[in-house]
Amino acid sequence: MAKRLEGKVALITGASSGIGEATALALAAEGAQVAVVARRAERLQELVKLIHEQDGTAVPVVADVADEKQVQNVVNHVKGKLGRIDILVNNAGLMLLGMIDGANTEDWRRMVDVNIMGLLYTTHSVLPIMKEQKSGHIINISSVAGRTARAGSGVYNVTKWGVVALSEALRQEVYKDHIRVSVIEPGAVATELTEHITDEEAKKKQAEWLQGITPLESEDIANAIVYAATQPERVNVNEILIRPIEQD
Ligand code: NDP
Repeated sequence: MAKRLEGKVALITGASSGIGEATALALAAEGAQVAVVARRAERLQELVKLIHEQDGTAVPVVADVADEKQVQNVVNHVKGKLGRIDILVNNAGLMLLGMIDGANTEDWRRMVDVNIMGLLYTTHSVLPIMKEQKSGHIINISSVAGRTARAGSGVYNVTKWGVVALSEALRQEVYKDHIRVSVIEPGAVATELTEHITDEEAKKKQAEWLQGITPLESEDIANAIVYAATQPERVNVNEILIRPIEQD
């Protein structure tokens, strides 16, 4: 039986761990050729090896999505190598929790640069290709934090709220070109995300909260992405909000 994404090319940012890695594996298992982007080259090499062992096609591209030039080079490289880009999964992200008062403002800049500007750079670089193809699918990873604000999460909320807003504006701008836009809003997922929190108090609080629930697995989110990506061309899954059963 033909795989559902045979002939499609997917570019996934933040594919060196967690949700992005699981998504690359899942899209490749559906027959898509995947370009996997992140800064950690070794992790990408391991992922590519695994996909090749499973008879898939994967191309690693080391880049920092917060750097516009690097992003344009990534997109040019993938288009040159794989011929087209059908699916863009804007997944690279940081969650540097902490109160606004007394924050290390460098955390804010890093989150805005990756979660917002990185997503915009990839989208901006990929759109001309999708417009020329008259088809494409941009899948943005927001969060429950893009729907519900909490003390200690304000700037992460800003970025993920922004992703929801951008996704809807973009959908309205490009649907006539047969480009679909979806936004996925996960609750807590067991990944490396919390390891990068620099505020020790916030990190401890988050770890304690996570210990009290069974979080989602990265594969749960990959399944939601595969669902959106495998619908018939006439269907645009606009939004999927998905929480662990035990999350308030
Ligand atoms: P991980 O930390 O496991 O993955 C984050 C990925 O982003 C890594 O592959 C990392 O790769 C990449 N990344 C970070 N900065 C950059 C950069 N400047 N350039 C390129 N790649 C970068 O966390 P998750 O899998 O959990 O996170 C994926 C997305 O899911 C994020 O957008 C996050 O906000 C969102 N999310 C996660 C939830 C969770 O509970 N885990 C809940 C809701 C949303 P590298 O370091 O190699 O560059």
